[in-house]
Amino acid sequence: KLQKAHEDANSKPTFSFEFFVPKTSQGVQNLYDRMDRMYNYNPQFIDVTWGAGGRLSNLTTDIVQTAQSVLGLETCMHLTCTNMPIELIDKALKDAYDSGCQNILALRGDPPIDGGEWTAVEGGFTYAKDLVKYIRTKYGDHFDIGVAAYPEGHTEEPDQDVLIEYLKEKVDVGADFIITQMFYDVENFIRWCEKVRARGISIPIIPGLMPISSYSAFKRRATWSEISIPKHFEDRLQPVKDDDQLVRDVGTELLVELCNKLVESGHVNHLHFYTMNLEKSSVMILEDLHLIAEEKEKSLDTLPWRKSLNPT
Ligand code: FAD
Repeated sequence: KLQKAHEDANSKPTFSFEFFVPKTSQGVQNLYDRMDRMYNYNPQFIDVTWGAGGRLSNLTTDIVQTAQSVLGLETCMHLTCTNMPIELIDKALKDAYDSGCQNILALRGDPPIDGGEWTAVEGGFTYAKDLVKYIRTKYGDHFDIGVAAYPEGHTEEPDQDVLIEYLKEKVDVGADFIITQMFYDVENFIRWCEKVRARGISIPIIPGLMPISSYSAFKRRATWSEISIPKHFEDRLQPVKDDDQLVRDVGTELLVELCNKLVESGHVNHLHFYTMNLEKSSVMILEDLHLIAEEKEKSLDTLPWRKSLNPT
């Protein structure tokens, strides 16, 4: 279970990897291979995103099952309310339970890609807090439940104070940890953490970190997530923007600085990487932070703490 790992604030930061559900069966196989390799870095957990209902969602539960019970990774399943009448939510939770998964990130879900408004499905939930409450009522303490937060505002609600009130509601109905939207403005993030703590929210805050793999992807993702790009990021990345290798090197330095500031702030002791199903950029950052050994060939299979990744 995840929340215990955050209790010792003096320990070395732990880290985790987010993976999204691939669209093809070959993509799923590649993902398993990647997860298997990334196991050796000893992430505290991995999480798997949830599509907007339908085929991709079934794949989420399959991937969670394989990651948790075959690959032995502590796994967190995202679950959204989008197109999910209660029967489908029940099935997803039961699948997670049966596979030994003990961690759910409870979300409302993205609005449709065509830009329309998000609407609740008949017989489903409207807000993430409804889902949190439901999971808690139905499964007691079996699942550690995470919720999402937005240090730079949410598309549908830019007012940070209002969002923190909504976050507090999610915590009050039973959330155990918070994972944030990606961000690059670390000063803003630290101020936001202070506000969250001042509002009486004391559960762990896990910062969502998007490594920089190419300049165009960096700009596109920041625009899509409506997050600001600090001037020094632009100043250092813009001049090398046509050389992907240099972008990755500079991006790694920027993310390492960001992570160090986060940890120094005392607000977080866990780093969560949006891998985009790629290995290299997240691993480069973790190596430079000395959180994983650079010599990747070394097998960790026989180390005694490996079994601590498995649920008891
Ligand atoms: P909520 O907290 O329920 O908020 C939804 C909207 O309702 C917001 O605009 C909020 O301001 C408003 N609101 C909340 N409470 C109230 C209230 N009491 N009264 C009135 N308004 C209220 N999406 C996916 O589809 N799949 C994923 O796997 C996925 N993973 C994510 C992981 C992370 C770490 C993050 C940060 C986001 C993820 N998302 C994912 C995106 C997320 O689903 C969207 O951002 C969604 O629009 C909001 O979800 P939420 O859980 O924060 O919803």
